[in-house]
Amino acid sequence: MSDDKINMNHGAGGEVMANLISSTILDNITNKSVNGGISLDALDDGASIPLGDYEIVMTTDGHTIDPLFFPGGDIGRISAAGTINDVSVMGAKPLAISNAIIMQEGFPIEDLDKIMKSLNEACEEVDVAVITGDTKVMPQDKLDGIVMVTTGIGIAKKGEVVRDSGLEVGDKIIITGSLGDHGMSLMSFREGFGFDTDLKSDVAPMWNIIKKALDVGGVTAMKDPTRGGFANAINEMASKSGNGIVLEQDAIPIRDEVHAVSEMLGIDPFEVANEGKVVMGVKADKAEEVLEAIKSEKYGENAAIIGEVVEGDYVIVNTPIGGERILEAPIADPVPRVC
Ligand code: MG
Repeated sequence: MSDDKINMNHGAGGEVMANLISSTILDNITNKSVNGGISLDALDDGASIPLGDYEIVMTTDGHTIDPLFFPGGDIGRISAAGTINDVSVMGAKPLAISNAIIMQEGFPIEDLDKIMKSLNEACEEVDVAVITGDTKVMPQDKLDGIVMVTTGIGIAKKGEVVRDSGLEVGDKIIITGSLGDHGMSLMSFREGFGFDTDLKSDVAPMWNIIKKALDVGGVTAMKDPTRGGFANAINEMASKSGNGIVLEQDAIPIRDEVHAVSEMLGIDPFEVANEGKVVMGVKADKAEEVLEAIKSEKYGENAAIIGEVVEGDYVIVNTPIGGERILEAPIADPVPRVC
């Protein structure tokens, strides 16, 4: 593979992509922040523009998922949920999205209709409007199916935006549900298991859960563990905060079906994308209350406290047999075109 050309790893959410972003993308942009808000350089889930007593949060996402329809969702649902979640994990109430659609000539209108219905359904779940968009078509041999680009906008009171860098020593780590469902279901679907499996993508908008947690209080950091999976998200949260994290493997929820497929395919469920999960840091004295609030919401029933923030430089996992291992960020997500 030539070093001066883009390869699939450059879009896979790991170290290779991070290097491309810092060297070629960030370095070419001179103005990366407005009114002292969260900047492009922060590489957080979204950025912000402080205005009066509020902060506008903005994020954008391109969706290239293959296949377009998969167990548990489709490109429409993931386009809405992915963008809504990036706004929500900033602690901002998502208000609206835009949606740009680029289609291949010959794309079935019936499929577009299904995709738009499920995009709308995901927006309705959390009361988000679709207020602007764009529609383009490319010649048949120039594009594979459909690509969708969504931009999300949300609002938070000034000073209440939650960063992915805010973990402090002693905070508990909460995950809102089981890990690896999206990546593993997509992978098993591609491997030919089709829709005849209990394994489904978790793709869902998470604002209602996040709102409950924020209402309890004590949330210090949030991130949605999408490309690169939980392993990438938790390492980013640890390193941005300058702390270590100790996790209890026994406490981390993973479905039996996900375990089975991951062993069959040799893929680590910690390294594949989740599309309906949030990793949270919460003050220790609020953690139980936040956990109960999350569990009472749809999509939150399997939430768990899985570890805590410590002084140190690594993410360590205590194994059930009394050992420990370092959990590293993956070089790239092992499953391409997951979102
Ligand atoms: Mg994100």
